[in-house]
Amino acid sequence: MKHISLLGATGSIGTQTLDVIRQFPEQFKLVAMSVGKNIDLAIKQIYDFSPQLVSVQNKEDYEKLLLQIPERTKVVYGSEGLLEVATYPSSDVLVNAVLGSVGLGPTIAAIKEGKTIAIANKETLVTAGHIVTKEAKNYQVPLLPVDSEHSAIYQCLNGERQDDIDRLILTASGGSFRDRKREQLEGVTVEEALNHPNWSMGAKITIDSATMMNKGLEVIEAHWLFDIPYEKIDVVLHKESIIHSMVEFIDRSVIAQLGTPDMRVPIQYALTYPNRLERTASERLNLWEIGKLHFSKLDFERFRCMAYAYEAGRVGGTMPTVLNAANEEAVAAFLASKITFLEIEYLIEAALERHQTISLPTLETIIEVDQETRTFIHSRI
Ligand code: NDP
Ligand code: MG
Repeated sequence: MKHISLLGATGSIGTQTLDVIRQFPEQFKLVAMSVGKNIDLAIKQIYDFSPQLVSVQNKEDYEKLLLQIPERTKVVYGSEGLLEVATYPSSDVLVNAVLGSVGLGPTIAAIKEGKTIAIANKETLVTAGHIVTKEAKNYQVPLLPVDSEHSAIYQCLNGERQDDIDRLILTASGGSFRDRKREQLEGVTVEEALNHPNWSMGAKITIDSATMMNKGLEVIEAHWLFDIPYEKIDVVLHKESIIHSMVEFIDRSVIAQLGTPDMRVPIQYALTYPNRLERTASERLNLWEIGKLHFSKLDFERFRCMAYAYEAGRVGGTMPTVLNAANEEAVAAFLASKITFLEIEYLIEAALERHQTISLPTLETIIEVDQETRTFIHSRI
C-alpha cells in the first residue's frame, strides 16, 4: 500500500488523482492533502478519504474548516501548511498538483525527506529545474512525470540508453485558437480561450495552451526531466492529442506513446511505476474509430510564447524564472479581464527583455527574481 500526500487536491489534476486513489483502495491511501480556497469541495474530500492532515491557503478558511470536519483530521494553513503536507512523515509519494511556483519549496522539502515525487506542477521545474533535478539525484528520489507528454517520453525511454536518444518530439494540440490567424486573436474573450478542444483542465493551463506557453513550459520541463539539450527537443502540432509524445533514437527509430486523452492514465502510471494496474475506467484507443491523425509544423511567429520559452531555456539561469512568473501574473490578469489575450505575450516579452540573467541561481535568488518579476508585471497592468 502506497501512502500519498497530495498538493492541490481540489484542482483538475488533484480531483483526478483522487479518482485513481478511489479506484484502487488496496493500493493507495491518501494521508495528507492541501487545497487552496475551495473549502466546500475540501470538506467533501475529507469525509470521502479521511486524510490525517489537511492544509488550506489562508487562515480564515483554516478556522472555518476546523468547525466542519472530524477532530481526528489535523488542519494547517499557508506556505508552512504546504510544507507539512509535502513532508508528512507517513507518506511515501508526493503528488504535486498545485498551481504555480508555490510548488517549489514543498517539492524540495519532500525530496529531502526521501519522498518519491509525482510531478504535475511544471512551473516548479521551469523556475528551478537545475535545483530540483540535482536534489532529486542527491537524495536518490525518483521524479515521475504526470504531464501527459512527459509521461509518454518516460515510457518511450524505458530501458533505453541516454546516448541513444537523438531527439524528443513533444506533441501539441494547439489549444483553443489553433485554427485562428494572429490577427484573429484581437479581442478574443476569456470564455473563448477557456474552451479547449481536447482536454478539460484548470483555467491557467487552458490559457497556457491557447497561447502555446504550455508547450513552451513543457519544453523546459522536458529539458530538465530528461537531461536533453534544447536543440534536441522538437514540437509538432497534432490536433487529436492521441500521440502524447515521441522519442527518436540515433538509429532513426521513433517510439511513440498513444492513448485517448485522459489525464488519469499518466497520473496512475506515476503512482504505479514501474508496474501497471488494469484501468477499466478509461476508454480504449480504437484507431479505426479515429481514422486519421494530423500533424503540422509549428509557426513560431504565430505562437510567440514558444519562441520566448526556447530562448529563455537556452539562456538559462534566472531567465526561465522570469518567463514563468511573468506568465503566471499575465494569465491571472487575463482571467480577471484586466488585459487582452495578446497582452499576455507583450507583458512576458517586456519582462524578459529587461532582465539581466543570473546564472546558476540559488533558491533565494529564484524566489527574489520571481517576486520582482511579478511586481514588474503588476506595475504594467
Ligand atoms: P487547477 O487550477 O485546476 O488546480 C490547482 C490546485 O492548486 C487547486 O487545488 C487550487 O486550490 C490549488 N492552489 C492554487 N493556488 C494555490 C496557492 N497559492 N496555494 C495553495 N494552493 C493553491 O490546476 P490544474 O490541476 O489544471 O493544474 C495543476 C498543475 O498541474 C499545474 O502546474 C499544471 O500546469 C499541471 N498540469 C495540469 C494538467 C491538467 O490536465 N489539468 C495537465 C498537465 C499538467 P483551490 O482550487 O482550492 O483554490
Ligand atoms: Mg501536457
